[in-house]
Amino acid sequence: MNSYSAFSLGFASRMTDPFLVDENGGTLTYADVECETARYSNFLTGLGLRRGDSVTMQVDKSPQAIFIYLACLRAGLCYLPLNSAYQQSEISYFLNDAQPGVAICSPAAEPLFMCLCTEAKVPHLFTLDENGLGSFADASANAPKQFVTVESAANDLAVIIYTSGTTGRSKGAMVTHGNLVSNAQVLCDAWRITSNDVLIHALPIFHIHGLFVALNTILLSGATLMFHRKFDPKAIIRDLPHATMLMGVPTFYTRLLAESTFTKEACGHIRLFVSGSAPLLIDTFNEFKERTGHTILERYGMSEAGMICSNPFDGERRGGTVGFPLPGVDLRIEGEGLKAASIGDPGVIVIKGANVFSGYWRMPEKTNEEFTDDGFFKTGDIGVIDRDGYVSIVGRAKDLIISGGFNVYPKEIELVIDALDGVAESAVIGLPHPDFGEAVTAVIVRNISGAMLTESAVIAKVKSELANFKVPKRVHFVDALPRNTMGKVQKNLLRTQFN
Ligand code: AMP
Repeated sequence: MNSYSAFSLGFASRMTDPFLVDENGGTLTYADVECETARYSNFLTGLGLRRGDSVTMQVDKSPQAIFIYLACLRAGLCYLPLNSAYQQSEISYFLNDAQPGVAICSPAAEPLFMCLCTEAKVPHLFTLDENGLGSFADASANAPKQFVTVESAANDLAVIIYTSGTTGRSKGAMVTHGNLVSNAQVLCDAWRITSNDVLIHALPIFHIHGLFVALNTILLSGATLMFHRKFDPKAIIRDLPHATMLMGVPTFYTRLLAESTFTKEACGHIRLFVSGSAPLLIDTFNEFKERTGHTILERYGMSEAGMICSNPFDGERRGGTVGFPLPGVDLRIEGEGLKAASIGDPGVIVIKGANVFSGYWRMPEKTNEEFTDDGFFKTGDIGVIDRDGYVSIVGRAKDLIISGGFNVYPKEIELVIDALDGVAESAVIGLPHPDFGEAVTAVIVRNISGAMLTESAVIAKVKSELANFKVPKRVHFVDALPRNTMGKVQKNLLRTQFN
């Protein structure tokens, strides 16, 4: 089924109710969703775009950007969001690789996009600003407000998401209508999302967290969004009494905790805080519980597979874990020699299910390499399952350090260092070393009580807890770890800085 049709069945009885309450004061109803997406679908197909053609956007967050995403789904076009942080060479690569039929950019980026679209032979370019104004709004203003949503099969292409590409070239993950619908249904059930919910939406909408997890579940349940263009902790705290849910990356939670007005009373109306996209530090999890009485629900997912694991809504939510595989997700941990790992032993997480994407855009060999012989997708994440079935992410396969022939998972060392007094957070990386191949190196951010923390104290602590080959050869102290827009630590930058 076309994913928009599935969502519209969910909100069909809520047409006069609010879909989106804008921080600028306006409210858009579900009837507006129908009408605006119809207008954009008519306009895009009127440009001559056919099924499967893509529409790419690098714009600031606005309600109209959401409508363009939904219009693409309705019209059977492929939506291709671009991270707003991407620069010229990256944009050029995406345009040439994806060959979209339409590109939409912010007004400020129009001169750059004009050159890049000419080079990549993209036939149509429009602008859209954070208020939904620009040449796209002008050109589509008179398109008809009714559109018959096209029929789509479960495996029809809906969205291409380029992976963050911390190693090698970015790959375009092809996400299908079936992926979107199944994942939204599973999450609505798992997190008990209903039309009574009001979600504070402060995530970017070029990434699966803000685009799929937050938007699709709200649409499918006919709930309401409180629309924040950016994450501003004070604005979030102001809106908490009017909301029931917040979805965030871990930095949302650390930054909320840094506000003195973020109290138990402020969170009184919220029923669920969800965290994901990067690991939630156990300290943040514990401090949050102490301060607010709420236990953050951590979940795990990726562009290629939507949501994979979630801590339970009703059962115990365990800090430092991502909970259980979601219903319909078959998950296995592959240890040495591709055998299923024993309980407690780390290995690569491989998965199968309706949530798993259909492959990488124009990279059939790469796609083949990333699936096992029995059809499981290799996530590249290293995980462990405990006796009770809780999954923990202990590192990235590519993040693995091999020192003196031994495999070292940075996460294990980071946990030991993070537990030290005076440490706010840490990142462990491997740097080239003449003897060991790679030398374990720790990069640490101290907290206010950490002024006296020394390299030798850190080394001594790790030595007292872990095998010698895991002990950092060097420790560097920094003011902050470099993070991308989704809160992920950019270890490639640290490797360059300290090499
Ligand atoms: P992306 O495709 O940009 O969403 O990145 C997906 C990657 O983010 C996963 O493969 C994991 O490495 C990481 N990730 C997502 N959620 C979590 C989590 N809760 N804990 C640890 N890592 C996570």
